[in-house]
Amino acid sequence: MTLRGRLVRFRSFWIFPLLASFLLYLTSRGEPKSRFNDLFWLMPVGILIWTLLEYALHRFVFHIQFPIRDPGLREIVNASHLAHHASPRDPTKLLVRPLYGLAISTVLYAALLALSRNTFSASGIMTGVWTGFLYYEAVHYRVHFSLSESGFIARQRRRHFYHHFTNNKRGFGVTSPLWDHVFGTTLPRP
Ligand SMILES: [Zn+2]
Ligand SMILES: [Zn+2]
Repeated sequence: MTLRGRLVRFRSFWIFPLLASFLLYLTSRGEPKSRFNDLFWLMPVGILIWTLLEYALHRFVFHIQFPIRDPGLREIVNASHLAHHASPRDPTKLLVRPLYGLAISTVLYAALLALSRNTFSASGIMTGVWTGFLYYEAVHYRVHFSLSESGFIARQRRRHFYHHFTNNKRGFGVTSPLWDHVFGTTLPRP
């Protein structure tokens, strides 16, 4: 992919904040009792859900080859993350495709709606999930391409590179090791 293509893919992430604003505005009008103050707890719930999603998708979906017939779909679902593992220094294989993100978002939004039965609450939680997702993309990008050798990113890099180059059955969390600790897939102590 050309540099321009890469930038376009980065830029297309604006779809998520745009969609969040649009959904929040629309659903706040549709739900008369909705209050924007509720975002103070809805968004953290969404961010927490994101951390679990980041872990679960990485562990149970992205490393698995699904028997999909359609070559285009197979490429998106199976090869996305495995291509990143095959060439971790290739910036064109690093970012999640926005379309793939939107497909997963649609399924999640439907689930949140079924659980909360409130379009504004579902949108608020979804906004938190997308915030977590964009944060993940930024951290993952810096983990691979930042040169800093100390501090937060260097610590994340040590864990993530262990997953890449030592044992890909451990260290599934990129932005936080929380769920690796909960589910026993954390790195062995040095
Ligand atoms: Zn990586
Ligand atoms: Zn991986």
